[in-house]
Amino acid sequence: MADSPSRTNPLTKVKRAPKWERVVLKISGEALASETSDVVDAKVLERIALEVADARETLGVEIAIVVGGGNIWRGTSGTHIGLDRATSDHMGMLATTMNSLALQNAIERAGQPTRVQTAIQMAELAEPYIRRRAIRHLEKGRVVILAAGMGSPYFTTDTAAALRAAEIGASAVLKGTHSGIDGIYSADPKLEPNATLYEEVGYMDVISKGLAVMDMTAITFCQDNHIEILVFDVSAVGNVVRAMAGERLGTLVR
Ligand code: UDP
Repeated sequence: MADSPSRTNPLTKVKRAPKWERVVLKISGEALASETSDVVDAKVLERIALEVADARETLGVEIAIVVGGGNIWRGTSGTHIGLDRATSDHMGMLATTMNSLALQNAIERAGQPTRVQTAIQMAELAEPYIRRRAIRHLEKGRVVILAAGMGSPYFTTDTAAALRAAEIGASAVLKGTHSGIDGIYSADPKLEPNATLYEEVGYMDVISKGLAVMDMTAITFCQDNHIEILVFDVSAVGNVVRAMAGERLGTLVR
């Protein structure tokens, strides 16, 4: 679509500074679904798309998005029915591409130009992932959706988000969770009612205490490459913009 479309986003536009100039927003596949929907809930998709467009417009933050595929297929779904892991992971990467295309369509309906780049070539659908080209799109104000994870089996989209953040020079991975998980707790809050939410926590604490809310490979990669991680609830209205503006929410890992 054209790069200066008419905007339809109804959210209030108050300009302010972003916390980070360039970020990777990681959205779990399941965050696009709901209890009443099939794989993607139209209202959820539209809301997230509007918030991404709003963050671009009001904060000027450069946004790359990595979407998961867990609402459609995970590597483990196939191994449970006898598929080999690599094949099943390829199916998972195709699932992330389906979500990426849905998200692209919704974000462009919100008036924000986008590009999808895939880590597995699908020339009829999208551009291949080319690091310098992704950066150029970001500089031009486009939202870049990075599909098909890293293109390699045995990995997750959390790790893909961390890798891409390092490659494109993003300062943070914003890990959007769902199902009532709004950050990292001292223990599982569903099992331990006294568990407390960390406002900020070190990478090593997350690893040594096993505070699993994100893939450990992704966390160590972010630590090595000085990329901050914000774990926040992407299913709560307004949180995409709040997270990118640096409002106090979720847990910051650094
Ligand atoms: N996947 C992969 N390599 C990657 C990224 C993803 O093989 O670099 C596959 C893997 O099978 C995974 C699936 O894609 O289970 C969906 O991604 P993920 O589980 O990270 O999705 P999410 O949990 O975020 O929805």
